[in-house]
Amino acid sequence: MNNFKFYNPVKIIFGKGTIAEVAKEVPAGARVLMTYGGGSIKKNGVYEQVMEALKEHTVFEFGGIEPNPHYETLMQAVELAKNEKIDFILSVGGGSVLDGTKFIAAAVVFDQGDPWRFLAEKAAVKLKGAIPFGAVLTLPATGSEMNSGAVITKVATKEKLTFGSPFTFPKFSVLDPETTFSLPPRQISNGIVDAFTHVMEQYLTYPVNAPLQDRIAEGVLLTLIEEGPKVMQNPSDYNAMGNFMWSATMALNGLLSAGVPTDWATHMIGHELTALHGIDHARTLAIVLPSLLRYKSETKKEKLLQYGARIWNITEGSEEERIEAAIQATVKFFNSLDIATTLHEYDVDRATITAIVERFQKRGVRNLGERADIQVEDVEKILEMSL
Ligand code: NAP
Ligand code: FE
Repeated sequence: MNNFKFYNPVKIIFGKGTIAEVAKEVPAGARVLMTYGGGSIKKNGVYEQVMEALKEHTVFEFGGIEPNPHYETLMQAVELAKNEKIDFILSVGGGSVLDGTKFIAAAVVFDQGDPWRFLAEKAAVKLKGAIPFGAVLTLPATGSEMNSGAVITKVATKEKLTFGSPFTFPKFSVLDPETTFSLPPRQISNGIVDAFTHVMEQYLTYPVNAPLQDRIAEGVLLTLIEEGPKVMQNPSDYNAMGNFMWSATMALNGLLSAGVPTDWATHMIGHELTALHGIDHARTLAIVLPSLLRYKSETKKEKLLQYGARIWNITEGSEEERIEAAIQATVKFFNSLDIATTLHEYDVDRATITAIVERFQKRGVRNLGERADIQVEDVEKILEMSL
């Protein structure tokens, strides 16, 4: 088991009717900016519940944060937050609104030039603070509600970059499964696949004698496999949705990565596909992950065999056959959720692979994966396997 530090200060408030708790969690007297997306919260009653909870506070609103939140849009919120002397932000929506909120919170107090720098020049620019924020989550998927990371897109350059800092953990996140009952099937399946891949990126590496970490990861994977189809079938199934929601949070709150190597190459490559083609985040992961597992099957061999046996009951055949069967079971699971796993199904051709290779070269992206052995040439081969 590797050395680790585990720190997670996010208070999770889970369950039916818990939006009302926001009233107590947001500091009294705070000037609150409520951030939200394209309007789903105005159709499912969440907006009214939040407004009711904040009736004693001074509230400003910033709506229109798009999926894969845009730097350009968020900078307008930064302007508003500065002008109105906002001292608390409440994100109401999915991972995009919350990631966008993390950016706004950090950008408002950033004094080292253009806030894009803390994404584009990570090595050189360290954040020194952020204004506090909380979340009402309406889409189980990203784990953003219990981590300090965010992914932001700059439309002008078609870049989708990540940042994170000790200052960008939410103070609290409200997880009321009933807020998710209005989710369309596309977003539910995206959420299942995003959470599943988060676990895989922290589990499917190489063994370091961390059996508890393995068992927790496998527990989350099995829960997603069992509860996922139930929520697809009936999005108003409170218990299935609640367990799915908590699984997605557990998948990326830092617990699974404690003491083990992590991969994250699938996410890094997937972000490029979203930036260039607008393919939903989770769908890009479903395209990349199977090819990446095949391409790295030698260095990931032990974990692939364990994954096959413990998750999919694959115990017969040669090692090679069992590994291929485990990858195929993963593809079948994604396909069962109506998620495609090849580039051609999105009309993406070879030219995009060349473009991604060039973008990685230009940005100096290299040494991806748990062994830091995935180079740009490997990314090219992985994507070719996904054509
Ligand atoms: P999202 O982009 O936040 O939302 C997708 C769509 O779902 C939006 O159109 C939204 O509509 C709608 N929606 C949300 N809640 C709804 C509800 N209860 N009922 C009906 N519709 C609802 O999706 P997401 O998957 O949560 O977030 C994806 C983003 O997170 C990507 O940019 C991805 O790269 C990033 N990400 C972040 C992390 C992290 O750790 N921070 C990890 C993985 C991915 P409205 O806009 O109208 O609300
Ligand atoms: Fe993700």
